[in-house]
Order: sequence, then structure tokens, then C-alpha cells
Amino acid sequence: MASVLIVSEIQKGSLRESSYELASFAQKLAGASGRDVKSLVLGSGAQGEAEALAARGGGEVYLVDGELFANYTADAVQKAVHAAIEKSGADVVLFSNTPSGWDVAPRVAAALDAAYVSDAFDLDAEGDQLVFLRRVFNGKLDARMLPSVPVVATMQPGATAPFEGSSDGSVSPLDVAVSADECGTKFVEVKTAEAGGVDLSKADIIVSGGRSLGGPEKFEEVIRPLAEALGGAVGASRPVVDAGWMPHEYQVGSSGQIVSPKLYLACGISGAIQHLVGMKGSNFIIAINKDADAPIFEVADVGVVADLFEVCPALTSAVTEAKG
Ligand SMILES: Cc1cc2nc3c(=O)[nH]c(=O)nc-3n(C[C@H](O)[C@H](O)[C@H](O)COP(=O)(O)OP(=O)(O)OC[C@H]3O[C@@H](n4cnc5c(N)ncnc54)[C@H](O)[C@@H]3O)c2cc1C
Repeated sequence: MASVLIVSEIQKGSLRESSYELASFAQKLAGASGRDVKSLVLGSGAQGEAEALAARGGGEVYLVDGELFANYTADAVQKAVHAAIEKSGADVVLFSNTPSGWDVAPRVAAALDAAYVSDAFDLDAEGDQLVFLRRVFNGKLDARMLPSVPVVATMQPGATAPFEGSSDGSVSPLDVAVSADECGTKFVEVKTAEAGGVDLSKADIIVSGGRSLGGPEKFEEVIRPLAEALGGAVGASRPVVDAGWMPHEYQVGSSGQIVSPKLYLACGISGAIQHLVGMKGSNFIIAINKDADAPIFEVADVGVVADLFEVCPALTSAVTEAKG
């Protein structure tokens, strides 16, 4: 029988949550298409993580355990994935849309001459046809991808809940014939970024600004005064950080900080899934955006369709006045 193969990832000794999200996707596809669920766990001393995945939706888990897999290298992981595909007969291979997923998934697809879908946020089967959904045009449209099989896909972290039920999976070792000498890349070291002074995860109120601010000076003129009036912290979307307007520790989202303040104000932020992943757990969300169709309004408790350059200063004055 055909199967769906999850390629899991271990980070700092534990499976990433996104691997359990892949388990949710794989179980959904198994229900819709009758495929078996298989998983691949790669690591050094990773038996416990393999068992954890087997118990939480991973199905039959192949464990590749060895020093070479203690840290990610594309060549070694690719060999292991091919061995797992051969053993499982998988015609659907799911990676998380993470830096190592971006790196290795296209290599696997190219080597198999398989279809490739990147950054999908959902999947399903309609009869024999697989359907993947991707968000395009800044979240305004959902594209339906109808790939042939075999297909390799990367799935957006945070797009579905991690698998929480229990399941009767199993773990078996998988031998992969690869040595460090055969690999064109080798692991050197992990460099951890220096911790900055901002820990948004502890803030009760966050006022975040997006690309629409247009420059760093607008953060100081519009966003910071409002945050200070409310006694909160400043946050930012990724383009703001990529443009160098704010340091990385201010970034909220899948590749920034995950926050859950009592109040989150999103000013001129469209609401791309990668931003939502970082702030949708906030207790109360106010979004200010000129575009009534912006996806941020889907998660907002209060939506203000207006120009942030008018609303934010007015709010700052009103809050300052109210505080006396
Ligand atoms: C792998 C990956 C990881 C990512 N990680 C993150 C992440 O951690 N965090 C993150 O934020 N993004 C992340 N992104 C980027 C994400 O996909 C979006 O591109 C980004 O969030 C968009 O930022 P934005 O909302 O500031 O800009 P835009 O999408 O350009 O939106 C600007 C919004 O401002 C509105 N606007 C314009 N002018 C005004 C005005 N005067 N008043 C009110 N509204 C106005 C517009 O209507 C628009 O909705 C990631 C992307 C990838 C591929």
C-alpha cells in the first residue's frame, strides 16, 4: 500500500513541534486517501524521540541513529530520506518548511523526478487526486495545487495543530550506508545569536508595526509613543527586521518570537501566516489596516480599517489624556 512519509526534525535534542504538525497532516491524508503513515527520525541517541513520535501519530517510525546524524547535513539526510522512501514505498513525502526542509526537500524531489510543493498550509485528497493549499499574493488568495505522485512537499509550521492523540506506532532501526567522507558538506558549529535586551514573550502589551511604516523613523514617531503610552513593548514584522529598521529580537512570528500578551496591536501588518503563528495566542488583538480584506482581520478581536498614521497618534493622545 502507498504511504505518506514524515521527515521529522530534532532540534536541541527534541523533536520540533512542527514534526508533530506533520503527523496531523499525515493522519489527515491517511484518513482521506487510505495511505499508511510512516516517519523518519534522524539523530544520535534519538530512540526516545522516535518512540514519542510513534505514540503521537507518526505510525511506523524508521530510526536512523548515528553520530553523523547528530547535526544536520544535507547529503546525509538526503541519503536517509531516500532509504526511508525505498523501505516505505511512500509516494507522498512531507517536510516542515524550515531552513533544513527548504534545503533538502527540493534535492529529494529532483532526485526522484517527483512533483514539488513548497510552503503549503493544508492538504487533502479528492478521490485519487492530492490537493495542497498555498497562500499567495500576501495571503489574499489560496492556490490549489494538484500534483501528481510521487510528490514532495514542505508544510508551513504553525498551519495546523500538533497531533495530540495517542496512536500505536512502532519504531524500527533503518540502516543507511553513508560515511562522513562521502558527504560534500560537514557540520562545523552552531553559532547562537547574542541575546538582545528585548524579551517580547514576557510583555503584557505589544504594539507591532509592519512594512507599511516605511522606515525606522516612523517606528520612533508612531509606534514607540503608542507602546509607551500603553506601558507596552514594541514589536515588528519580518520585513521591518529584514530592512534593518529594527533588530531581530523585535520580530514576531515563526522565525522571530512567539508572543502571547494580554493585548497585541498590529499596525499596518497584513497577517501573513508566519506572522500569525507568532501572535495568534494573544489574549486580545486589535488590527489597524487600510485594507478591509487583510488576513490579519481574521484573527483580530477588533479591526480598524483606517490609516495607521491617523489612528495611532490619535490613540496615543487619547491614552495619554485618559491617564491624566
Ligand atoms: C520562512 C518564512 C518565515 C517568515 N517568518 C516571518 C516572521 O517570523 N514574522 C513575520 O512577520 N513575517 C515572516 N515572514 C514573512 C511573511 O510571509 C510576510 O511577508 C510578512 O509578515 C509581511 O509583513 P508585513 O505585514 O509588515 O508587510 P505586508 O505584507 O507588505 O503588509 C503591509 C500591510 O500594511 C497595510 N498598510 C499599508 N499602508 C497602511 C497604512 N498607512 N495604514 C494601515 N495599513 C496600511 C497594507 O494594507 C498591508 O496589509 C516569513 C516568511 C517566510 C517565507
